[in-house]
Amino acid sequence: MNKKLLLPALLLFALPLLPVPEFWITQLNYIGMFALVSLGLVLLTGVGGLTSFGQAAFVGLGAYSSALLSTRFGISPWLGLFAGLAVTMLVALLLAWLTLRMSGHYLPLATIAWALSLNYTMASMEFLGKYDGILSVPALQLFGFSLQGGRSIYYLIWAIALLAALGVRNLLDSRPGRAIRALNGASMMAEAMGVSTFRYKVIIFMLAAMLASVSGWLFAHFQRTVNPSPFALKMGIEYLFMAVVGGIGNVWGAFIGAAVFKVIEDQLKDILPLMLGSQGNFEIIVLGVVLVLIIKYAPKGIWPYGVAVCSRWFPLGQRRRDWEGAEPLIRRTKPEVGELLLDVVKLRKQFGGLLAVNDISFQIHTGEIVGLIGPNGAGKSTTFNLISGVIGLTSGQVSFRGAAVGGLAAREIAQRGMSRTFQHVKLIGDMTVLENVALGGHLRSQSGTARAMLRLDREEEKRLFAEAERQLQRIGMASQADQLAGNLALGPQRLIEIARALCTDPALLLLDEPAAGLRHKEKQALAEVLRQLKREGLSILLVEHDMEFVMGLTDRLVVMEFGTKLIEGTPEVVQASPAVMAAYLGTEH
Ligand code: ADP
Ligand code: MG
Repeated sequence: MNKKLLLPALLLFALPLLPVPEFWITQLNYIGMFALVSLGLVLLTGVGGLTSFGQAAFVGLGAYSSALLSTRFGISPWLGLFAGLAVTMLVALLLAWLTLRMSGHYLPLATIAWALSLNYTMASMEFLGKYDGILSVPALQLFGFSLQGGRSIYYLIWAIALLAALGVRNLLDSRPGRAIRALNGASMMAEAMGVSTFRYKVIIFMLAAMLASVSGWLFAHFQRTVNPSPFALKMGIEYLFMAVVGGIGNVWGAFIGAAVFKVIEDQLKDILPLMLGSQGNFEIIVLGVVLVLIIKYAPKGIWPYGVAVCSRWFPLGQRRRDWEGAEPLIRRTKPEVGELLLDVVKLRKQFGGLLAVNDISFQIHTGEIVGLIGPNGAGKSTTFNLISGVIGLTSGQVSFRGAAVGGLAAREIAQRGMSRTFQHVKLIGDMTVLENVALGGHLRSQSGTARAMLRLDREEEKRLFAEAERQLQRIGMASQADQLAGNLALGPQRLIEIARALCTDPALLLLDEPAAGLRHKEKQALAEVLRQLKREGLSILLVEHDMEFVMGLTDRLVVMEFGTKLIEGTPEVVQASPAVMAAYLGTEH
């Protein structure tokens, strides 16, 4: 814990003990409860890229569950908390199952539908009190104390909000967290590293719903009454507003967003009617305008500006290098050199009317470096995608280490020891180089969400980071480990992709144009690294345009043109082939 955070923490703790107006405490209580919901959205929308307008409905579930159970059946609100969480998890699971496999806008639409229907249910059910809701909800009791007043429940609200923030922060800095950070825009890469992206989408959807539910529980026992209006769609939109304003993607942004929202909203409620001379919900319009302005001029919210100022006093620490001597990760048993490793038989891919890969067959034996060459558009990358399971094949067979893998999902193929890089580099720009490489170790580690949030995963994290660093050293990139991957040039980014692939401990490495963007010296260094890998028994299939690079490195070449295999043979045979000369004449070579 940063010592400099002690002062703000103390202030937060002492505030209710000081003679500050009750209004302040009430405001802070709301900010804490709002921040809990907004924190879920930071995870779900900011990091995971999934938009939900329905969080207020989850707040309502938590609030109504406990209010109903405690008033009707005299059940302790603490049991009500868990009942609310259970109901929330069930509903969230159902919604996730229904919508998360679909792409793009289905989720936001579904959350709107769900928010509307739940709100309608609350407002029309006799036993939920219709529009009047449930009155005289009991106050919370803790260790014999009644948390009746704003000043006493303040501590509970802020303890929960801060613990949740720490939990989410811990999560984002962990094995599951790196997978979650890949969801927004790098799903295909994550799957190729063995991550079940669907699973992590469900997890963050559930977590966000649960945070909202807890906020609702606090709300019910703070207000001592519940009714449908605070859980309406409008509030769902406002929660999203808070997350966006504060700094979507950052844990503390949730708090800033909640605070800014609450203060602006209250001020506007007072000022606008005076200015306009009439009553009405004008603040909604103004908030809408503010939101549009922020999205346009500060798309990352207020937080990044806050960081710039705060970092003068609170340096945001780099990950401490604490993994020296960590036990190595488990390695898989490797195939014998010379064994048939990959057998591709009549591989075919049709994109509508285009036959991108036309009955391609070839083999790779363990310890070989095979090059796949051919003019642009020949179908090399598509062949890679078919072999690694990134796209489905139209027909043909692929067998890897004796087992049929054609048609399996990318992450199942990754599990069997095949790893790859991408022609269009797929790194997570706001993660460090080391973290990106550590993502390659996903399948060699196990820590789940709960362990990560509680920081019980540190031993395994050390092993992962030690491995990631080792792989970076292997390709000569260790000095850049702490840089953000997005800040590097294309050449080094390609090398990082190789390190990430190596971190999966593969038996076969598929490299799609690894030398593109490298300078001559760097290419020579890369060739030397690949030769070293070969000496260690690794097999490599590579696509490359640089003929000099390919000729000096590979044992065998497969030449493709218009989706078809033109010729296969040693570099010498291929170089001498008139057909290959013809294929390349007039193209970029
Ligand atoms: P290469 O890597 O050899 O340059 P690609 O495998 O990327 O070639 O592409 C082969 C052909 O398939 C090209 O004509 C390309 O436009 C087409 N193609 C590749 N991916 C798709 C896709 N997802 N949908 C439609 N056509 C595609
Ligand atoms: Mg390509």
